[in-house]
Amino acid sequence: MSDPIRPQPGILDIALYEGGAAHVAGMSDAVKLSSNENPFGPSERAKEAFQRAVHKLHRYPSSDHTALRQAIGEVHGLDSTRIICGVGSDEILHLLCQCYAGPGDEVVFTEHGFLMYRISTLASGATPVEVRERERVTDVDALLAACTPRTRLVFIANPNNPTGTMIGLAEIERLADGLPPQAILVLDGAYAEYVAGYDGGAWLATTRPNVFMTRTFSKIYGLGGLRVGWGYGPKAIIDVLNRVRGPFNLSTAQLDAAEAAVRDQDWVDRCRADNTRLRSWLAEALMERGVPSDTSTANFILARFADEAEAVACDAFLQSHGLIVRRVAGYKLPNCLRITVGDESACRRVAHAIGQFKAAKTPAAAAPEGGGA
Ligand SMILES: *Cc1c(COP(=O)(O)O)cnc(C)c1O
Repeated sequence: MSDPIRPQPGILDIALYEGGAAHVAGMSDAVKLSSNENPFGPSERAKEAFQRAVHKLHRYPSSDHTALRQAIGEVHGLDSTRIICGVGSDEILHLLCQCYAGPGDEVVFTEHGFLMYRISTLASGATPVEVRERERVTDVDALLAACTPRTRLVFIANPNNPTGTMIGLAEIERLADGLPPQAILVLDGAYAEYVAGYDGGAWLATTRPNVFMTRTFSKIYGLGGLRVGWGYGPKAIIDVLNRVRGPFNLSTAQLDAAEAAVRDQDWVDRCRADNTRLRSWLAEALMERGVPSDTSTANFILARFADEAEAVACDAFLQSHGLIVRRVAGYKLPNCLRITVGDESACRRVAHAIGQFKAAKTPAAAAPEGGGA
């Protein structure tokens, strides 16, 4: 007999999302490099705004988010009436699925795409369609080939997590132009700020009726704990999402801190510069120690090991040295570890530890003096 109390179709197929580990048992000073957080934290101005919000907590927050939307619009040169703010960009992704996909519909994303795409797709009762990447890079031809009359949404993160790779605007444009008429292209720009001069797809979302962009305060803004993200796109889509969004989804503290954060672009510029410098140092240091990675455009490196066993062993070794990185077997990358670019001391520690791990594994290779890589 079937259980009369049952959730909507798809929901029991959802595997629980696991965040990056934050602790190592018995260690109080472990360095967390598992969630792509900004090691320098948020702008001082954002912290001050958060503190000031304490005096307004008896009041309901703004339900239309006008001040935050206008600040984002001014900073990015965007029409603030085409912006929607959410509880992290996760909420925006979720609203897109809820509003545009249901049972019988398909949502397309890539094999190493962000796990939330699958979760939100299943939660809305739609069918996830996973597409191969080309050597850990989004493949536009494969995405277009996967589209059918049932495709309602196509998600790509650019730069992508956990690969760190990205595709160029001409390729994204080709994807947008090639989609069937009922499909929306969602450009997840969670890491867009790390790429100097890249607008995250804002221009395409301004000019195309089928392109939508999502952004977050969780990464370069250093506000993952605050939970604020936003979306930008065609007015018609914004209107639909706003009907379903909770009117008080964001608290006063979230709105005020995010507004102060987006107005402090000096902080963003500093964090981007530091990340670029430390990322190339780390990638080279790992390469010299026999651990290659694709050229990353984000705030993490996808370190590749010989096989799953070596990745697992290195992860355990790093943990025993107080370094927490991210295993990405759940992203179909069992032989890789995703390592967030931390501050300088964290980068040195992780490079040193991986060097020790590699040397211990292959004592012969470590022995010759003056030997190459
Ligand atoms: C971190 C991340 C996000 C941001 O999620 P929030 O809900 O805004 O914290 C979105 N997409 C990708 C690909 C990410 O890695």
